[in-house]
Amino acid sequence: MANKTLVCTLCNGEMELYVGPKFNRKVGGALVAAGAFSTLFWVGAVLGVPLMVAGAYMAGAKRELWVCKDCNTAIERVVVKPKSRSFKKVQ
Ligand SMILES: [Zn+2]
Repeated sequence: MANKTLVCTLCNGEMELYVGPKFNRKVGGALVAAGAFSTLFWVGAVLGVPLMVAGAYMAGAKRELWVCKDCNTAIERVVVKPKSRSFKKVQ
C-alpha cells in the first residue's frame, strides 16, 4: 500500500499522518488488571475474561489522524469494512 499524502480540503495544504493509541492506555491497562483480579475468584472468571479481552483490545487499538500543516485541521481516517458498509450514499 503506497503511502499517499492527503491534501487539506479547506486550504489545499499538505496533511501529515499521526498514529496514536485509540483509547487511553491507562484505561485499557486498568481493565486488564481488573479482569486478571476477577479471574482469581471462581465466579469472577465469567466477568474477568471478557474484561481482559476488552482491555487488551483497548490498549492495542490505534487510530490514524491526518493533521494539516497549514491550518491544523485534523481528520481521522476510519477504514470501513465491506461488511459494515450499511450507510446509504447521498448524492
Ligand atoms: Zn488546511
